[in-house]
Amino acid sequence: MIQSGLPNGTTLSASEQHGLDLLVDLARVVQVMRPSSNVVKLEVTGARKRAVSVGECVARGWFIEAADGVVRIDRNALDVVCDIAGASKEQASTKRDRFGRIPSMQSPLAATGKERQAVISRAAMRLRYAVIESAGDRPVRFVAPWPNGHRWAAAVTHDLDVVSYWPLFSALRVAELARKRELARATRVLAAACNAIGGSPVREGVQFILREEQKHGVRSTWFVLCGTPSFSSWRQGDLTYLPESAQAREIFADIGLHDGEIGLHGSFETLNRGDAFVEQRGRLANLAHGPIAGVRQHFLRLHPATTPTHMAAAGFAYDSSQGFPDRNGFRLGVADVVPTWNASDQRATGFDEIPFCWMDRSLSKYGGIEDPAEWIDDAEALAAECRRVEGLWVGVWHPNLVPALGFPGAPEAFSALLSSLSEGSPYFGTLADILAWRSSRRSVRVRSVGADDVIEAELPVATPHEVVLEDGNGVACPTRWL
Ligand SMILES: [Zn+2]
Repeated sequence: MIQSGLPNGTTLSASEQHGLDLLVDLARVVQVMRPSSNVVKLEVTGARKRAVSVGECVARGWFIEAADGVVRIDRNALDVVCDIAGASKEQASTKRDRFGRIPSMQSPLAATGKERQAVISRAAMRLRYAVIESAGDRPVRFVAPWPNGHRWAAAVTHDLDVVSYWPLFSALRVAELARKRELARATRVLAAACNAIGGSPVREGVQFILREEQKHGVRSTWFVLCGTPSFSSWRQGDLTYLPESAQAREIFADIGLHDGEIGLHGSFETLNRGDAFVEQRGRLANLAHGPIAGVRQHFLRLHPATTPTHMAAAGFAYDSSQGFPDRNGFRLGVADVVPTWNASDQRATGFDEIPFCWMDRSLSKYGGIEDPAEWIDDAEALAAECRRVEGLWVGVWHPNLVPALGFPGAPEAFSALLSSLSEGSPYFGTLADILAWRSSRRSVRVRSVGADDVIEAELPVATPHEVVLEDGNGVACPTRWL
């Protein structure tokens, strides 16, 4: 438990406060509501404003220092937290790639080669250890990270880019493989495609994924396109199917049968016209027979300065577009759920981001690596980092990665990925489940320490799971919930 304080006469800027709130939430440290002498104090220091780099923060342990009963953190490090996890630095960028996206190298982590580490989640771990170190005899409590005793979490997500006219996608992929001189693979694709003529390899691919997930108790999240395709949208790789078509409806029903979550895959139009989110979300709610909580942009076309605000206004609860299209890693430096930040208004938007750190095609499309087994090695390396920080791994697997559409060996690789994740025993949830848990976990506050040393705590945001407070060794402690 901690209580935050500032030296007399100091106030934090909004971005510093946001950085501090983020760290405290990610560290799982419970805050006390009433001042008490028996609690570790968190003090923000550093009267002087100076620009510090992320490299300096990492090298200097994020300027977090433990003393007797006090943890001190330099305010300048808090701005770096907001720059990265709040995407402030990227919001200031005017550079765009050919799809209108902010190029990966505009991310402070990719620019310094640190995107493979969840640096902000690690900073929060450093804060947690500092609280333990400074506590002495004072009671410390942390919220257990994930439901049902799990020490990390994993979410498997899918972007449904292809439903109809699958042979066209096979042809495009064969052309891509020929360009890359992957002739043996191209031959295997042609054979698989010929075999599939008259069948529905896309739906069979979806059903295969759902069956494999069921074996491991995984419920997944599916982002589906919900606009009307045209010749021009087809040519650009934007909308390629009608969500009201019989084929698409069958797939939605398959997902529903497996308790999957359906979210919107925002089409190109949504980037420049916020009302398109409202229309597409409403249209999808009719097809999915319920409200739509989540969104991920097709081609990851998101501007952190404006898009989250449009998404929130359309009624979404979270976005999951923050990741790199051309490499795998932690774009926001977190393996977790974070509130989004609006840099021009200098305020939190009240809308959450659930970043992903791994996508199937990143290595194939941009790294020239066509062996699906190597994609899985990369997924496992990032899952290890998520486990290390007791965080969340979010991966994107495209259901059109089947042999007939150009990806021999991919379904086997997907099965291997699920087995490997399962072995680490994460909490598997849909993104809506994970968001609900994190909102609840974030709301825990300690009111007081009872005479019998039992902590009295409040949980304003309810959850169906049991919330556990633990000590510095991760041992559950008795708690009176008020
Ligand atoms: Zn897509």
